[in-house]
Amino acid sequence: MQPAVPIDVDDTSGIWRTDGLPMVYLPRHFLVNNHLAVEAALGRAAYSAILRAATAKSAIEWCEAQVRDKRLDPEATFRHYFQRLSQRGWGQFSVDELDIAGRRGSIGLRNSIFTLEARQQQGQRVCYMFEGFISGAFSFLLGNSGASAIECEEVYCGREAHDHCRFKFAIGVSR
Ligand SMILES: [Zn+2]
Repeated sequence: MQPAVPIDVDDTSGIWRTDGLPMVYLPRHFLVNNHLAVEAALGRAAYSAILRAATAKSAIEWCEAQVRDKRLDPEATFRHYFQRLSQRGWGQFSVDELDIAGRRGSIGLRNSIFTLEARQQQGQRVCYMFEGFISGAFSFLLGNSGASAIECEEVYCGREAHDHCRFKFAIGVSR
């Protein structure tokens, strides 16, 4: 099967783009090895906090660009974000529960790059990078109430005794 995302390569500059956004295509082990090296240097708690803010910011920017370019409504944009992540090989995300009025939801993830690549971390939850992705996208959906107000946690992981990962998210709920 061919990729489901449109990929445009500029024949002069060599830049890859999807939906007008410059992209980088790289080996999964490269990304995860870098991730694990920074985690080892900073400690997981410090690194996780940095990642959460940075990835949430990027998710919000991505969603805002989609609204501008594709004129999707906020919920469609939120769902499109996880569709695109899935189509780009991060893992297979499913928005299983989305209660906008209650400001909470649940997202499943199969074949996460971290569970497939981080083989030395058996028995640990390893996909915390995605907590910021989800916080940012949900913050966007709620009208940018501030990604820091969104709590998101990987409540179980495919590296534990599960066949997939599960993320729960809500506004203002203590972790
Ligand atoms: Zn996981």
